[in-house]
Amino acid sequence: MDDWRSFDIANPTEEHAMIREMVRDFVREDVEPQALEYDRDEKFNLELFRKLGDYGLLGITVAEEFGGAGMDATAVAIVNEELSYSDPGFCLAYLAHSQLTVNNLAFNGSDAQKKRYLPGLCSGELIGCMAMSEPDYGTDVLGMATNAVLQDDGNWCINGRKMWITNGVVDEDGTPADIVWLYARTGTTERGRPEISTFIVEKGMSGYKSGQKIFDKLGMRASNTSELVFEDCIVPPENLVGEPGSSMHHMMRNLEIERVALAAQAIGIARRCLSDMSRYAGEREAFGKPIREFGQMQRHIGESWAEYRAMRAYVYETCRVLDLDSGGQRLDSDGVKLFATTAAKNIADRAIQVMGGYGYVGEYVVERLWRDAKLLEIGGGTLESHQKNITRDLSKNPDSIEE
Ligand SMILES: Cc1cc2nc3c(=O)[nH]c(=O)nc-3n(C[C@H](O)[C@H](O)[C@H](O)COP(=O)(O)OP(=O)(O)OC[C@H]3O[C@@H](n4cnc5c(N)ncnc54)[C@H](O)[C@@H]3O)c2cc1C
Repeated sequence: MDDWRSFDIANPTEEHAMIREMVRDFVREDVEPQALEYDRDEKFNLELFRKLGDYGLLGITVAEEFGGAGMDATAVAIVNEELSYSDPGFCLAYLAHSQLTVNNLAFNGSDAQKKRYLPGLCSGELIGCMAMSEPDYGTDVLGMATNAVLQDDGNWCINGRKMWITNGVVDEDGTPADIVWLYARTGTTERGRPEISTFIVEKGMSGYKSGQKIFDKLGMRASNTSELVFEDCIVPPENLVGEPGSSMHHMMRNLEIERVALAAQAIGIARRCLSDMSRYAGEREAFGKPIREFGQMQRHIGESWAEYRAMRAYVYETCRVLDLDSGGQRLDSDGVKLFATTAAKNIADRAIQVMGGYGYVGEYVVERLWRDAKLLEIGGGTLESHQKNITRDLSKNPDSIEE
């Protein structure tokens, strides 16, 4: 390749660069003006969310024949980065819909399921969520207690509660998500392990309802988080995804793009915090000179720049090789999330420090980004789960280190 030196890993093609520009404009015009209010009021901006459908972003990885944009992991990262530059809470709702639900369905559902649900999910007419976590089981996901029993008439009967579900409710009236990508236990395998199966549950199916909306979250307050309840919920056989017991495949494959998208959120947070702290350090004076001239301020800015650049390179390099249609790429999807999320939290922390009292209040944005960044160390897998996975994968494949 002759032009490798001019290759920009974060905008590898013209199409990627155009998406970035489009989302950046949308963020400046529509997202930024509402971000402070929706965080303060703990409200989800459903109307603005549906606009993402008009821009073709809700089905960004979905094939065009089902109403999507047919793009790749790099495009996913670009959208998540740009939205999170302004409003990571709003972006989390986007991620739960587009990556956790829509992408999962696009790569794991049957043709009939895709035809039935994807057009509405891509346009924004339907809002989706993914329900894996439970009140008593998070990291220990295979322990889940929600169970589905096959009945004599061929329908499944599902009972259980899911917890922490982003987009579980879509408005202030507690209206549940239109579509739930649901994991439930359907038995025990021959090896004595839980058999987990995937179901598509629709609003209106009997026994499916929302539970409590979770208030007073530290951050990501512009996205709704709620409990979902399944009480003798009847789901027809055509809404089982794949075969009984095939969830491990769906989960593991989709967790990779989920983690990369969350790491991309961290890039957006980091870039915004760096930009704001750097500008502020030039404008604010103390002892007769800009605070930028103090060595301790330079340490905050310098370290943040280096970490921001490192996360940008690592995340987009991981996207470059990430194949959405196959699993087994966990080492770096865990790696980017482990590194970028804590780096973003630290960069947001330094931004507050550089901006002093002003950095501590909502109008100056960085305090919100600091609160939002913390979630990235927990959701989609905790830091500890990434450390565990990476150590296990390296022990199985030590050559990864030398490659
Ligand atoms: C705002 C928000 C949005 C979310 N959205 C969704 C969603 O849309 N869908 C969904 O399904 N879930 C969602 N979650 C749930 C999230 O994925 C879980 O919170 C996360 O997986 C951790 O599970 P837990 O909270 O039960 O913590 P636990 O698993 O109970 O962990 C508690 C602590 O123990 C540690 N720990 C647990 N096991 C080990 C181990 N083996 N070794 C070392 N340490 C360990 C953890 O790392 C953590 O520090 C969301 C959570 C939040 C807060």
